[in-house]
Amino acid sequence: MSYLVLDIGTTNLRSVIVRPDGTLDCERRAANAPTSPFVGAVEFDPLAMARLAVELANSTLADGGPVHGVGITTQRASTVVWDRATGIPVANGIGWQDLRTAGMCVMAGAIGTAISPNQSATKAQFLFDSYDPDRTRDLCFGTVDSWIIWTLTNGATHVIEATNAAVTGLIDISSDGRIVWDISRCEFFRVPTSSLPTIVTGVGSVGRATALKGAPLILGMAGDQQSSLIGQSCVMPGDAKITFGTGAMLDIVLGPVRPTALVRSAGGTFPIVAWAEKQRTMFGLEAIALSAGSCVSWLVDDLALLSSPAASSAVAMECTTSDGVHFVPALLGLGTPVWDYGARGTLLGLTRGTGRAEIVRAVLEGVAMNGAELVDAAEADAKRPITALRIDGGMSANPVFVQALADATARTIETSPVIEATALGAGYLAGLADGAWTWEDIATMWRPSAVITPSPMSTEFRLRWQDAVRRSREWYPDLSALTF
Ligand code: ADP
Repeated sequence: MSYLVLDIGTTNLRSVIVRPDGTLDCERRAANAPTSPFVGAVEFDPLAMARLAVELANSTLADGGPVHGVGITTQRASTVVWDRATGIPVANGIGWQDLRTAGMCVMAGAIGTAISPNQSATKAQFLFDSYDPDRTRDLCFGTVDSWIIWTLTNGATHVIEATNAAVTGLIDISSDGRIVWDISRCEFFRVPTSSLPTIVTGVGSVGRATALKGAPLILGMAGDQQSSLIGQSCVMPGDAKITFGTGAMLDIVLGPVRPTALVRSAGGTFPIVAWAEKQRTMFGLEAIALSAGSCVSWLVDDLALLSSPAASSAVAMECTTSDGVHFVPALLGLGTPVWDYGARGTLLGLTRGTGRAEIVRAVLEGVAMNGAELVDAAEADAKRPITALRIDGGMSANPVFVQALADATARTIETSPVIEATALGAGYLAGLADGAWTWEDIATMWRPSAVITPSPMSTEFRLRWQDAVRRSREWYPDLSALTF
């Protein structure tokens, strides 16, 4: 059985068919980069996004259809508010990276309601305050999955999938593990209950995609990181993946026990819903590096040290060590474990003899060391060892980087056969709903493209890098004081 997957990323939209053997077919891709109308703002045009998604999906279906169902994976927390009667958004959607509501988050935190600007709550509040200040209109609130499902069903279905709902900042977990709206938080952020979508599980039909040829059933849904987790067959407790794209996200599967709190832990990780089915919700946790591949892009686009990101591997191989140079990838501050928005990128240990190769190697090693920090933080917070470490994303194709990651984590690294496993995960979820695969099948479908074993790394090397991290911190103390 084959499934169409729509992957609504932050910069690209993708549509592809997942075949029964887990291969991807008939891919269509288009850029859909967000805009930034003012400093700190990140917006997207929901109607353009919807049109493009339908266009790509129908083109894939024309080539490789028919399919047994549809899977959808989306950027998380990005927020859309639209008119229920007309289906027209009140304004552009607000992207997950948008910081315009940072002040609202600080104020909410000051009176005891923790919220972060990259959750949806204050984005929704901002849109309602701007376009329905009296809360009298009949508007729908949703994340990108809600919006795309609304579009595909021609307005018949207003839902939000559980992994996406979990990052709105508006939910609670019931004693039996179900994700439910937290009405007091909705009231606090003045998000009208009449605007809330129904929370649905990521495995199961939510309706027919009547906007698509053949009107296939929408069967599987997940946020992008969760989808990549499942796409790398991380479906058993202890399985973990890191996606090294622009930033890096480690996600680990834990189990059905509900987390005690939904906020960032002292160790700098976040509880997540790994996936939700009718009968149970699986939880996990996430560790985040704000900059990863973006550091390589910086070498290419800004420093012009490299002709392409891929060239970083060959250039780094021109030297065997970074010769005492250490790079801290804090271009946007530091995420897990320390969360210091005032930290800045740091290159230490330069001499007259430092060349391009040493700098490029130090950047790859610095991102790898940061990856090891994510692993350590996740293991400590999960209170269990990470048994399998799989990676995908642009940087997973870089042999020097992957070896550095194996060395820094002292673990065997398995690289994903598809560089972006996100689409595959949503296909698996659709197939699960349809009975095409079981979780056990998905676990055994993992075929890494490479398995890299660690070589010993001196403790001194990691300590030196951690010393460089200390020196990168609190460069902008005002920003470092932000605690969300
Ligand atoms: P995203 O999904 O966040 O857009 P991708 O997974 O497409 O990211 O990866 C793109 C990022 O990975 C870019 O920042 C790029 O610089 C980096 N990248 C891509 N290929 C390589 C490579 N071979 N070596 C190192 N970095 C790479």
